[in-house]
Amino acid sequence: MIYLDNNATTRTAPLAVTAMLPFFTTHYGNPSSAHGVGSEAAAALRQARRSVQALVGAAQDHEIVFTSGGTEANATAIRSALAVQPGRTEVVVSTVEHPSVLSMCDALERFEGIKVHRIAVDGEGRLDLDAYRAALSERVALVSLMWANNETGTVFPVDGLAELAHGVGALFHSDAVQAAGKLPLRVSETSVDLLSLSAHKFHGPKGVGALYVRKGTPFRSLLRGGKQERGRRAGTENLPGIVGAGVAADLALAALAQTPRIAALRDRLETGVLARIGGVTRLGDLGDRLPNTSALAFDLVQGEAIQARLNALGIAVSTGSACSSGAVEPSHVVRAMKIHFTVAHGVVRFSLSAETTEAEIARVIEVLPGILADLRGPAPVAAPAREAAHAG
Ligand code: PLP
Repeated sequence: MIYLDNNATTRTAPLAVTAMLPFFTTHYGNPSSAHGVGSEAAAALRQARRSVQALVGAAQDHEIVFTSGGTEANATAIRSALAVQPGRTEVVVSTVEHPSVLSMCDALERFEGIKVHRIAVDGEGRLDLDAYRAALSERVALVSLMWANNETGTVFPVDGLAELAHGVGALFHSDAVQAAGKLPLRVSETSVDLLSLSAHKFHGPKGVGALYVRKGTPFRSLLRGGKQERGRRAGTENLPGIVGAGVAADLALAALAQTPRIAALRDRLETGVLARIGGVTRLGDLGDRLPNTSALAFDLVQGEAIQARLNALGIAVSTGSACSSGAVEPSHVVRAMKIHFTVAHGVVRFSLSAETTEAEIARVIEVLPGILADLRGPAPVAAPAREAAHAG
């Protein structure tokens, strides 16, 4: 199998799996227990926290709160910011955030009277800065803008955006689920207050994530109960998962050195496809996007059809579509960029990882022209002059 869907999820690193296993069998203690197996578990939890701290570049390990994944980290950030600032009842997001942010905002607006500003993006997925500035006021509790987009890879300039949010006293959260392990984050050097991560996007296990909470940021726990995570996330920790996330974070930090190689492979894929196939557009901000992501829009063909043909050849990719009410439609990200309808249905996302090889990219470039030629059918041929004279 050629796996080019690493923005959906990644293969758990074998070293992470090996590190996790003893935490099911021999080191199965509860980190809160005051005995040997418990303190062994607590030490492993500390170690994993330091690894995630290093991956995001946080100043202190206690700024990391483990969660069940990116969705919970996003929900915690949004709910917490509103809860600690009851006088502020507005939230600012972009139209291309992950559904875990957008659906939460829809519900807050519908059931809890929160006003949500949804800032548009341009045709390359870049935030409308004028609209963003106009939405900011002292009524805003939280701005939540993603570090990098999962579908196009477009990177938002979060540091400057966070400073603008602070200008009106709002907290700033960034969903960095797609950025972690693909870009150096160094969060302590930015103005970001809250930042979400998910281990399965950087070769860690599924169902584990983290929320970075800058020291001094007012915070309210989403889940109530035990005093785990210094009272910031109740519930016995998923220790095997957290240990796996820690090892994956160590590996991801080291693998950042491979970013230029991954970007070069992605560029080779795009150059090869554009040279061999007509009617293809690269989506996203080509000047600032994730090094591993290529979202290509193929004119006059359905992304699902390309995906199915690639799948039949053992090549896994995803499309820029989403299922809504049983129909396959361009995703909210593709729609937000307002790209022409003839290409909006033909979006295919290729997302690479450090495990992607040159041979795999060469194979995709080799098979794709045939698939497109087949799906598009024979090109219209100009009518011979003699027949044209009889026409009409
Ligand atoms: N945010 C972004 C940008 C994502 O791509 C994803 C996963 O697809 C999530 C949040 C949700 O993360 P999780 O699957 O860990 O809940």
